[in-house]
Amino acid sequence: MHNNNLKDEVIRISGASPIKCMKCGKCSATCPSFNDMEIAPHMFVDMVVKGRIEELMASNATAHCLSCFACVERCPRGVEPANIIEAIRVIKLRKSGSVQLTPAQIASVIDTEIPQQALVSAFRKFRK
Ligand code: SF4
Ligand code: SF4
Repeated sequence: MHNNNLKDEVIRISGASPIKCMKCGKCSATCPSFNDMEIAPHMFVDMVVKGRIEELMASNATAHCLSCFACVERCPRGVEPANIIEAIRVIKLRKSGSVQLTPAQIASVIDTEIPQQALVSAFRKFRK
């Protein structure tokens, strides 16, 4: 099912440009989770272009993406598939109404080993 509102939301949150995809498949070829994802990176980029966001949200792609950014590094067109899947995660969390992280919880979980990117990502999901 096409959902242009959700499509616009994915593009706005991700800052990605799925329309620039030339379907070369390099993102999927480099993805370490390719075998586990029901929808591979090059496929979910195409699904966003087509507005098939609800199918993407229902898939296991968000759970299996490691946010390793290999697809972003490899993409010759600057599409940033990882940011798209992260936007799908954010939308799913917001729709569920759950609060993933509160500022008060941060201090107790902070660890010098935690990648800075993980903390930034967690805050992006936080809603008051
Ligand atoms: S960020 Fe996700 S989709 Fe991209 S290569 Fe890594 S695991 Fe695959
Ligand atoms: S690497 Fe980039 S251009 Fe190639 S299929 Fe993936 S998103 Fe599209």
